[in-house]
Amino acid sequence: MITILSGGTGTPKLIQGIKEIYPEEEINVIVNTVENDYFSGVYVAADIDTVLYTFANIINEEYWYGIKDDTFITHERLNEIGYGELLRIGDKDRATKIQKTELLKNHSLSETVEIQAKSLRIKAQIIPMSDEDSEIKIITKEKGELDFHDFLIKYQGEGEVLEVKYSNVNPSPKLIESIKKSEKVIIGPSNPITSIMPIISIKGVKEILEDKEVIAVSPFIGNAPISGPAGKFMSASGYETSSIGVAKIYESFLDKLVIDEKDEDLKEKLQEINPNIIITNTFMKSLEDKVNLARVVLEK
Ligand code: GDP
Repeated sequence: MITILSGGTGTPKLIQGIKEIYPEEEINVIVNTVENDYFSGVYVAADIDTVLYTFANIINEEYWYGIKDDTFITHERLNEIGYGELLRIGDKDRATKIQKTELLKNHSLSETVEIQAKSLRIKAQIIPMSDEDSEIKIITKEKGELDFHDFLIKYQGEGEVLEVKYSNVNPSPKLIESIKKSEKVIIGPSNPITSIMPIISIKGVKEILEDKEVIAVSPFIGNAPISGPAGKFMSASGYETSSIGVAKIYESFLDKLVIDEKDEDLKEKLQEINPNIIITNTFMKSLEDKVNLARVVLEK
């Protein structure tokens, strides 16, 4: 049994590779929930839905958000009638979100996700990091404190980030147990600050990770993440924007770090932080790339 810590883009790509070569029923995925919020009257848990859709083979791989080949009739109609919808929610994707919102009236988020996973015939266990509500704010130099989604979508991630703030929450009931039962914990190439830190900052998580075999894949090649604002968030939080910063963030519990072959020159410096540096292709374009990286992560 393995546990994977995930956000909603880099790690789901790796999950596509892992599920090809590892029994799905033995995979637990702990998913970041700090960005969850209500939009257009529905509960949006974007990272959880991306992980659900990844296992159900219906993920939109262009955006790593929503369902592939979805339509946007409701979204467009909302805009036509004067409700400017911030998130571009597809029609089928909205059905998932309506179901989640309704289930949440009588169930915890963990139970809700379990019901949805079952209805999608997913055998892996998808575990929200917390059942509690949380908040994440991006403090920018130009516009002050912004809601995470406003920063990312309305303002397109522009401006200088001074600080990233999120609430502390309690773990969901299965989080600790899942890590304890696993022979290996995999931290996928997700945004270390907004996707992984919220999970590892939960009380008790770092301590159990110290006793476990933990391997992480860096989301950086050179000085830039493969996509998204991880660089800005890393420097705002006082870390180098490269695999060096990633190694530092995970230093207290990480056993092995996988970096890209283009970063071979970082190996010596990285080994001062973590002696076990594995070099391979980490840029996942094809399914073959994903399976190859999955093999490295599972076998090393
Ligand atoms: P979010 O929840 O949408 O922010 O997504 P994640 O936190 O799961 O993933 C974002 C990170 O994925 C970014 O920092 C990217 O650099 C990383 N990423 C995306 N594609 C790849 C890839 O093919 N390889 C690696 N190594 N990282 C990737």
